[in-house]
Amino acid sequence: MVVNSYCQSELFDDALELFEEMKRANIEADKFVLSGILSACARAGNLDCGKAIHDYIIQKELVIDAHLRCALVTMYASCGCMDMAQQLYDQMKPKNVVVSTAMVSGYSRLGRVKDARLIFDQMVEKDLVSWSAMISGYAESDQPQEALRLFKELQILGIRPDQVTMLSVISACANLGVLDKAKWIHVYADKNGFGGSLRINNALIDMYAKCGSLERARNVFGKMTSRNVISWTGMINAFAIHGDANNALRYFQKMKEARVEPNGVTFVGVLYACSHAGLVEDGRKIFASMINEHNITPKHEHYGCMVDLLGRANLLREAVEIVETMPFAPNVVIWGSLMSACQIHGETELGEFTAKRVLELEPDHDGALVLLSNIYAKERKWQNVGDLRQLMKERGISKERGCSRIELNNEVHEFLVADRNHKQAYEIYEKLNEVVCRLKLDGYAPNTGCVLVDLEEEEKREVVLWHSEKLALCYGLINGAKGSCIRIVKNLRVCEDCHTFLKLVSKVYRREIIVRDRTRFHHYRDGVCSCRDYW
Ligand SMILES: [Zn+2]
Ligand SMILES: [Zn+2]
Repeated sequence: MVVNSYCQSELFDDALELFEEMKRANIEADKFVLSGILSACARAGNLDCGKAIHDYIIQKELVIDAHLRCALVTMYASCGCMDMAQQLYDQMKPKNVVVSTAMVSGYSRLGRVKDARLIFDQMVEKDLVSWSAMISGYAESDQPQEALRLFKELQILGIRPDQVTMLSVISACANLGVLDKAKWIHVYADKNGFGGSLRINNALIDMYAKCGSLERARNVFGKMTSRNVISWTGMINAFAIHGDANNALRYFQKMKEARVEPNGVTFVGVLYACSHAGLVEDGRKIFASMINEHNITPKHEHYGCMVDLLGRANLLREAVEIVETMPFAPNVVIWGSLMSACQIHGETELGEFTAKRVLELEPDHDGALVLLSNIYAKERKWQNVGDLRQLMKERGISKERGCSRIELNNEVHEFLVADRNHKQAYEIYEKLNEVVCRLKLDGYAPNTGCVLVDLEEEEKREVVLWHSEKLALCYGLINGAKGSCIRIVKNLRVCEDCHTFLKLVSKVYRREIIVRDRTRFHHYRDGVCSCRDYW
């Protein structure tokens, strides 16, 4: 009984020690004590200890009754050891809601949503925790649409979500990046009494930022009665990814005035803002203050921001110095930013060197392969170009496929590169032709520099024109209300050609266009992008 009270009060180490003592004193632990320790292991995620208890049960030939089996399954599932959990779970008859939910959570946390769904669908009885586990599984496995679909089902059943469920759904909306859905969940949260919650408000800030509405993120922040480091960091990040460095720095200042201590994540946001706005001096000072004033040891991402900041500003020597003196080996992101800086500033020698470092760490890195083959082609090293192409063919470089989403009239439409599956495909390609013709009058010429595959120039031009964001844009032009803002979410970086294309469309067609790419936002208006072509 002493052991159990230790377990319940989460004095986990003490419970274990006591168990060891009982073993030494030859006192048999009964199933209540054992399941108590098992549930402590589950909470602490301590697989080794859980296994030791399981071994003890087998060794002492104790009867594994329903109660103990339930504790074992829950322990294995919580520790992410799903093979053992599944094996024990399969032998359970009947299965109760607690243990099945533990299985759903276990699979969800590992991103194995299909396995989780299988169990979820077989459950006769489900409670809010089971629904929450399944919804968060989808939200975190990049299947936000499925998370929202389940949430709708939950509402139809009349089950009231709790804060955990709400946080998952809000993060699903953030990943989806669709503003109308974001507004809807915000209204829902307010109506259901979550409006005062710090964690919910922090999540809403992040969601609105990712859905392209800085305005609404600011509104949520402004109405909060208390704010913590996550709230401030959320706002700073929001400004940073929208290219508003001035406000990012202003809020950073205000945060310090409010005596909220910034953390490592805050500094990533501030430095990112500096690097994308070319604020070299501010960036240097902030990086130094992070170490000297705030006692935070910089990690890869902070060094990455500094290399990016200096590289973009053509201070390549200084950027290299950082890479050479940082206290750990540079990763692919850091070599990658140095490489892009060389590309922007036409530094072929250093460019070649960095591209090779990138390829050592990530042999399929298409950016590095394209850069190298362009450098070799420029220097007329045809043998090297040939070798590289051969290499790419052999490895079967599989680029992640570009995919763009647009929402209109409450429906989300998805387009892949050269997609012809949409029911309006014919009209979309007609529209694309028309747009290209009009833009050509404004001096547009397809830029095929980013196309990797070994194609004829004519084919390359087609590939570039069929990029998913152009298809989504044309869909928006056909179906959206005249003059309305077109919002697109893309999974990859926007290529140079699409960037120019979108700028021109915003001018020629007088439309505001907002595109979220893998890391940031582009607001296009009157032929200009908010990133000032610096992305
Ligand atoms: Zn493109
Ligand atoms: Zn841009």
